[in-house]
Parts: sequence; C-alpha cells; structure tokens
Amino acid sequence: MTSRTAEPSPEPLWTDFEPASCTRFSLPVEQKDGTVLPLPGYVVRGATSGPTLYLHASQHGTELNGIKAILDIVAATEPTALSGTLVAVPVANPLAIRSRSYLPEGEPNANRAWPGDPQGENVQRIVHALFDNLVRHADAVLDYHGINARYASAIWMGEPEYDIAIELARVFGLPCIEMVGGKGDQPKTFLKPGVDVRVCCARDLSIPAITVEPRGEMVTRPDSVRELVQGAFNVMRWLGMLSGEPQAPPFRAGGRRVELAAPMEGLYYARVEPGELVDEGTVLGELVSFTTLEVERIIAPMHGFVYMNGPYLRDGHTLNDIADEGEGVVIMWETVAPDDASWRPPAHQSPAKSKG
Ligand SMILES: [Zn+2]
Repeated sequence: MTSRTAEPSPEPLWTDFEPASCTRFSLPVEQKDGTVLPLPGYVVRGATSGPTLYLHASQHGTELNGIKAILDIVAATEPTALSGTLVAVPVANPLAIRSRSYLPEGEPNANRAWPGDPQGENVQRIVHALFDNLVRHADAVLDYHGINARYASAIWMGEPEYDIAIELARVFGLPCIEMVGGKGDQPKTFLKPGVDVRVCCARDLSIPAITVEPRGEMVTRPDSVRELVQGAFNVMRWLGMLSGEPQAPPFRAGGRRVELAAPMEGLYYARVEPGELVDEGTVLGELVSFTTLEVERIIAPMHGFVYMNGPYLRDGHTLNDIADEGEGVVIMWETVAPDDASWRPPAHQSPAKSKG
C-alpha cells in the first residue's frame, strides 16, 4: 500500500501508478472558504491493462452500507489477478456524512449536481472533483446509495440512461431492477430536479452507470454489504477485469405488480422480510386495530417477490409501524427466470416516499 495526494487534473490520476498495486489517494477539493477538503479513495491497478471500473458510496449522508462494501471490495481485489483498474471512493460526500443526515444543511443534493462546478457550492466542488479526475476516465460506474429497511435491495434506473446501462444493471445481479422515471435533468415525479450521476455518465460520457439502493439506511447490514460486494465482482467479471462469469440472480422481479393497503388504521407487524419469495396465501403481515384490537392478516395474492413490507413516514427515512387506513404497506412483484428474454424492469408506481 502506498499513499498519494494528487492535484485535480483532467488526466486519470492513476496514470503513473505502478501496475499490480493498490494505492490510497487523496483528492484535494478547495471549499468556498478556501480550506481544502481531502477526498480519499483507492486505486487498484491490475497487472495487465484493461477497463476501468469506478465506484463510490454515500453521496447521501444516511447511506452507509456502500462504505463498508467498498472497503471489502478493495481488500478482496488481488492486483495481480486484475486486468484494468478499480477506482473506489468509499465516501463520495464527506459533508453529508458529517452532517449525520441525508443532505448537509444549505448544500445542494450531490446526486442532482452532476457533473459539478469547481466554482460552485461546496458539494458541487466535490462532485466536480470526482467527475473530472475519476469518473470521466471510467468505462463503467457504480453509484451506491441506500434505502429504508422496508424495501428489498434494488437497482434504480431511468429512461435517459436505459440503453447504455441496462446490461450493467442486469449483470450486477440483484433480482430487482426498477424504473424510477424522470428525465434526469427535469423535475421528476418524486425526486428533486437536477442531473444525477447515471444521466451525467450516459449523456456526457456515453458510459453506463447504475444507482444501487441496498436495503438499510443509517445503519450497516451484513446482507446488504454482501450484495454490494457480489455485484461489484460480477461487474468486474463482465468487464473482463477478472476471470469467470457473473453470477446471475435466482430470478428477476417483473410482470404483475400489486400494492396492498392497510384496511384500517393500526399497528403493522411484518411477518416476512423484504426480498423474500413467497407463495400465494402467505401471511405477509398483521395489522392490529387501535379501536377494536381486531387483527387483520395481510395475505399474498400471488406467488412473488416481496419488494416492500411495512409502512414508514413520509420523509422516506423514518420507520414507523403505524399504518393509516388505505396506506400502502406491501409491494409485490411477480418473478421471471433471470434469462427470460421478455423481461423488462418494472416501473416504480407507488407514491414514492424514498429519496434514494
Ligand atoms: Zn442516495
């Protein structure tokens, strides 16, 4: 392990890094007040040349699984077995992490600020440093986020980058890929306007980028970390950076989608975990009325994939097991074989509360 501090440069900063090496670097990002924010990351250079995979986590301060996953990915990538370059930034937005919240106060949303601005707000300067030094020299990009624990892990995509990024999304290997809508640089149905990294990569660089939303925010989950590690290794195999084939998921979510609502106000107690495959008739959860103490069971209407199970507050982050009458408490999808040629990623249609 060697350490480098690099000046921002339009050239890949790893140009003169040794083959078959792992280097910790630090990008200096000048902030509005003149102080310099260090932005640390790793470059694993393979023994032979090949594609470059860039991945980062925690553009948002509540999304922590990707930090641990990226550390594990770097540690498990053997430079002598690698063809090409792995570039990894565990904390893409230190200001958000330090704020202990989704967004640092007074700053723009990092994932609506691509490709950034070296003269802009502090977060825009960080995004620009990532874009100019690292992302634009990549062949594929993984953007790790996090979603509240009522959801199964999923990949989010939009139409602007679909054609460029769908194959990357497929090989990553999560069973659920969903279309979250929006045009990337226009107001979305539930996401704030602005350009996210996926659209920026497709539009400005013609390279694939995907948003990965592992289950769990504000805490780390071993199962989610494993999914992110597995996905990155699947992608490196697909790119030819490592030998072997990507591991396909056991199924893909798609086809018929159902959303089940609470028949009354009450305490919702989930009986199965998001991400599980269940049969028709499975008890997904129980609802206890506060007025009659009557218990209603929420039953799976079909065989399928439990994408969401449980209510949560409208801020998208705070879990709360009290459901209002009529509030959606379950989202299920049918499943298809992972190689089904007719499969298309399902569209996100629920009244979206999550910020991604
Ligand atoms: Zn996010």
